[in-house]
Amino acid sequence: MTTLQDFFAQKIKLPSPPAIALKILEAVRKDENSFEELAQIISADPALTARILKIANSALYGFPSPVKSLSQATALVGFNTLKNIALSFIIVQDMQRATVGGFDLNLFWRRAITAAVAAETLAEEIGYQDRDLFISALLQDIGVLILYLSDPVTYAAMQDEKRVSGLTTCEAERRQFGFDHTEVGSHLLSTWKLPESIWRPIRFHHSDIREDKYGDCALVLYLSDKVAAIYHGLHSNRKSMEVHELLAEAYQFSDEQSAALIDKVGEKAQEVMEMFSIDPGNMKPFSLIMQEANEELGRLNLSYAQLVLELKQAKQNAEQLAMELKLANDSLRKLAFRDGLTGLYNHRYFQEILEAELERSSRYNHPLSMILADIDHFKKVNDHFGHPAGDHVLKMVAEMLVSLVRRCDIVSRYGGEEFTIILPETGINSARILAQRIRRGIEQMHITYNDQKIPVTISCGIASTEVVNGNITRTELIERSDQALYRAKKSGRNRVEVDELATCVCND
Ligand code: GH3
Ligand code: MG
Ligand code: MG
Repeated sequence: MTTLQDFFAQKIKLPSPPAIALKILEAVRKDENSFEELAQIISADPALTARILKIANSALYGFPSPVKSLSQATALVGFNTLKNIALSFIIVQDMQRATVGGFDLNLFWRRAITAAVAAETLAEEIGYQDRDLFISALLQDIGVLILYLSDPVTYAAMQDEKRVSGLTTCEAERRQFGFDHTEVGSHLLSTWKLPESIWRPIRFHHSDIREDKYGDCALVLYLSDKVAAIYHGLHSNRKSMEVHELLAEAYQFSDEQSAALIDKVGEKAQEVMEMFSIDPGNMKPFSLIMQEANEELGRLNLSYAQLVLELKQAKQNAEQLAMELKLANDSLRKLAFRDGLTGLYNHRYFQEILEAELERSSRYNHPLSMILADIDHFKKVNDHFGHPAGDHVLKMVAEMLVSLVRRCDIVSRYGGEEFTIILPETGINSARILAQRIRRGIEQMHITYNDQKIPVTISCGIASTEVVNGNITRTELIERSDQALYRAKKSGRNRVEVDELATCVCND
């Protein structure tokens, strides 16, 4: 059976610890409290010194007055913390030099630093004391990096398997490599001779084994990684809910407490990343991210609502426009078919409708008659009472004609003082009876204009399809009615005359 050591020997290229880290670790091992030696090593690297002072002055510790020297920093944060900060810087810096191909190293360290900050913040919140917590949390996933660096192909296969199967990362790692990153990470750090308090909790940060004396620390690491995942993984909202549940279960956190912790981590992590020269990207407190997302959603909804409103309005406008257009068209049609003075159908419409009605009458073999009516001596009306009086008479006569005929009869102004009445489904006898009624009706009218009574009579000529057995054209029918009218005029006016050919019909 392959042992961890064999496995590493075969598969994993363990990076050697950075020289300066070795020096620090050696000094610490010699004398747990040898501040002088630690300070000497750190001071030899001015960039490292500056960074340590910066972190001592950061929100992570929140000291009221500025920390100006390493000894002051040690006094404030403690010797061990100082050592761990130094080691963290050195390891992160060293690991950043690795050639990593497709691995997002910057994301890896962003997440690691966020986890470290989360662990510190959570520890403070729950009153958990651990001098090595920051560096443990920071390096908890270093095994992932080692696995990738040793065998990128197997690592990619592991990621694919995880995606497809829904296995956890550790499960997928064990299937592909035989070991998971917690084992690799803790092994690496133990070979680097970091204290057990750092590498041992890392071994259990994904396991449920809590009876180990580092169980509490492992739980904090596990939770800190979950918090980091909110900021640096997919499905932030789902992960945030998971953290809320885990914190409630482990430490009886209220939702407000959890939300405050997550936010605090977001704020602090950004600052710490800058100290580690890691690009924090677009890091913001989670609640702010959610707020912005909600606002964006609100804006989208609002603009959607506005869009709907505008569309509605546009539709209403279009409908209104269509309605106006229809009305305009209707009145245009009316204008096209109506006579302006009398409101009766005009000559053109009369011709059209006569054509259509003739066709219908022949199709159904029903009779159709027409009356051509002409006001008698109308010229005299104009001459005597004036043209406007003549117009008035025309209007009055038109009204009377419409009132005297049936609904289905079509009264038109043929021209001047001449009118036509189309009588569908009407034989010559009925037409004559109607014409007489009209003649009488006009004769009995009391038309006045400017208090002057204007006597009006009318002459009518009738033609009908009946007399020619339906075989007649529109022009012929009009002509025949005109001939009858002519006879009515000739016979003394205020008369009704029918088509000559109709006498036989009438006499029957
Ligand atoms: P008849 O009895 O033989 O039909 O004689 P009439 O005077 O009625 O016939 P005529 O055709 O000689 O004259 C028609 C007159 O109608 C001539 C014209 O000035 C007048 N007229 C035609 N259109 C209008 C109109 O719109 N308004 C007015 N006021 N007069 C019109
Ligand atoms: Mg005339
Ligand atoms: Mg006339």
